[in-house]
Amino acid sequence: MTRALIIGGGIAGPVAALALRKAGIDSTVYEAYPGGADDVGAFLMLFANGLAALRTVDALMPVHDCSFAAESVEFYNRAGERLGRRPLRGSGGDGLSPRTMERAALNRALHEEAARRSIPVEHGKRLVDATTDANGRVVAAFDDGSHAEGDLLIGADGLHSRTRALLDPGAPRPRHVGQSTVCGRLPHSPEAAPPGTYRMIYGKGAFFGCTTAPDGPTYWFANIPGQELSRAALAARTPAQWRRRVLDVFAEDATPAAGIVAATGTDIVASNTYDIPSTPVWHGRSTVIIGDAAHATAPNAAQGASLAIEDAVVLAKCLRDLPDTARAFAAYERLRRERVERVVALSGRLASRDPGAAAAARSSAEAARTRDARTARALGRDEGQGDSDWIRDYRVDWDEKVR
Ligand SMILES: Cc1cc2nc3c(=O)[nH]c(=O)nc-3n(C[C@H](O)[C@H](O)[C@H](O)COP(=O)(O)OP(=O)(O)OC[C@H]3O[C@@H](n4cnc5c(N)ncnc54)[C@H](O)[C@@H]3O)c2cc1C
Repeated sequence: MTRALIIGGGIAGPVAALALRKAGIDSTVYEAYPGGADDVGAFLMLFANGLAALRTVDALMPVHDCSFAAESVEFYNRAGERLGRRPLRGSGGDGLSPRTMERAALNRALHEEAARRSIPVEHGKRLVDATTDANGRVVAAFDDGSHAEGDLLIGADGLHSRTRALLDPGAPRPRHVGQSTVCGRLPHSPEAAPPGTYRMIYGKGAFFGCTTAPDGPTYWFANIPGQELSRAALAARTPAQWRRRVLDVFAEDATPAAGIVAATGTDIVASNTYDIPSTPVWHGRSTVIIGDAAHATAPNAAQGASLAIEDAVVLAKCLRDLPDTARAFAAYERLRRERVERVVALSGRLASRDPGAAAAARSSAEAARTRDARTARALGRDEGQGDSDWIRDYRVDWDEKVR
């Protein structure tokens, strides 16, 4: 039986393991970190396209159970005036509303599902090298000196993928998109949006979003313009320092953003944000990359995780239906590249339109007026479903044979 080595136990990795199992392929997941993810305050949203892909591998319910529904989004300007509202559900018609969840909860749910299906996950295994022999067998080397051997290796090792660099030492490096994303969680803020609603605010200096879970906690994020921070600088900055930085950015706006941030304790986490517009090499003879390893996207379209899940399911279908890995990898790339690069480009454009970036490009008052008018126009045009249905309405058909 074919055996796959999956590098990375974030999102794409465990989903690939579930999908491969359904396709009749055994795998082991190797994760660099010794334990599960635990970024307190970090949360994300899965849209219908990602949820539907989870459903094809019978993993929707555990994710549903650790998340809450997001039905609509409202946009405000820095004066606190509402620009419009739109539903978040696509027009796919299969009843899937987007869900919001803590990143750590999603990670836990996927790992528990893998364990329930007896799929091995080994922690503390950081891939450092991989070699393929004349017969196509691949040997992975880990930083603890151990090795693993399989018929194929799937790099689901994220933004700074080692697998991507091994496949192509000249692969493009992640590009910083000119912002840090700061996420926070607080027990409950009466100023935040009601459950089921996202409130998005174009502040003078940055973009802010918040939502509230039905059982209380309020979650917020802020896309703060700025240069890339070194790993050491990021690690050194405390939640209180990030709170002060975010507060400064929203202090002059007549919106709830500053109040929500001020009421947040230490559940604040920040990261540089990057994308990779195009990665030329996605696969070698026995190695392939999926998720952020292949196509990291700026978080502005909130689609990176959903795309990673789609990739995992499509790759499993290709391996199920085609007679060898070379043809399966080629089909996977053919089925995925155009879509994911289109989403990465869209998300990059959204990042460059965020208030900080726009303000740097023009006078901030002019930038704000232009953006408010554009947002109101777009919302008026798309009050029904929005203009990104092509992203959310995409479905992976598990039963359709790949040729
Ligand atoms: C602030 C922020 C907000 C976001 N919000 C959203 C959102 O709302 N919706 C959405 O869909 N997406 C969102 N994203 C994007 C999303 O988080 C990523 O696209 C998604 O996590 C990609 O999944 P992945 O499995 O490819 O990579 P990851 O989730 O990064 O997992 C990679 C795993 O590989 C492991 N690893 C790395 N190197 C090695 C190695 N050498 N050996 C072994 N293991 C290794 C890592 O430890 C990690 O566990 C957001 C991103 C950011 C930064």
